[in-house]
Amino acid sequence: MAFGGSLHVDLSAELEDRVFPTYSAPLGPIPQSSSWQDVLLKVIETPEKYEDHIFMQTLKFVVMYDGYPKANNHLLIVPRQKILTPNALNVGHLDLLKDARRLAQWIVQRLRAKSPHLTFACGMHTIASLHQVHFHVISQDFDSERVKHAKHWLSFNSPFFAPLSLLIEQLEGHANRKGWGSLAPPLEFPPARYEPYLKGPLRCNRTGCGRDFGREFKKFQQHYLSCTLPLPPNRGLDEPSRGKSAASSPSGEPALKKKKTGAEGEAANEGAKSISTAAAAAAAPAAPAGGDDGGG
Ligand SMILES: [Zn+2]
Ligand SMILES: [Zn+2]
Repeated sequence: MAFGGSLHVDLSAELEDRVFPTYSAPLGPIPQSSSWQDVLLKVIETPEKYEDHIFMQTLKFVVMYDGYPKANNHLLIVPRQKILTPNALNVGHLDLLKDARRLAQWIVQRLRAKSPHLTFACGMHTIASLHQVHFHVISQDFDSERVKHAKHWLSFNSPFFAPLSLLIEQLEGHANRKGWGSLAPPLEFPPARYEPYLKGPLRCNRTGCGRDFGREFKKFQQHYLSCTLPLPPNRGLDEPSRGKSAASSPSGEPALKKKKTGAEGEAANEGAKSISTAAAAAAAPAAPAGGDDGGG
């Protein structure tokens, strides 16, 4: 295969004359075999076998339907370049991540043209159940019968979900850090730090709401689906705004405790949902580990 991360292809040029595909989700997930954790690897290796599950392809990415959609629109941007886990992401992936964000912006713009009431989140689960890094592009209605538990919602609406723009900014921080350059360490996502977010409170994050339902998922869901306030703003899609205060979070999540020094401090956008480096992880208090979110 000629595909790979080293190809110099301008994504904008590639998308210029592209006809936007019809969003038409398959009836179910890709049948799971014994190696279900590797399903995304199979898709990038032999996409021709999974056409019904693929939304579109570019030279660097396969965009597929999430097998367990948690909202009206739910896609996965999967790089063709193998990156097995979030902990493998490093500054060498910066250009790839920026292309993924450009692609997400292109897709979201067109999905919103069809459903102007929707807003979108784009990012990655910090603890992934599947091999191969992938970025969720999900509408924030979370109106799906697949959203069955608190952790399903929290996996997209707490710092467990790392917005793509934040990943990019964090890696740029690493690259610019004095003496690190291309030798910068990969990002780290220690389960002890991120899994507790799945056990946190359920707070309506529609713009201007903030109602807290503790852990009462059914009540929360009923409210969220009928709350008349606008959906939260887009997440993970924008160029980060520099110098923004880290005091408030669009999803109403508490700011993570972190050392705000040097490049680390610079990366405090999107409500200070910071991503660990080895140093920050060492400084974070240990917390009990929880289950993962399953699905895609
Ligand atoms: Zn509400
Ligand atoms: Zn996922």
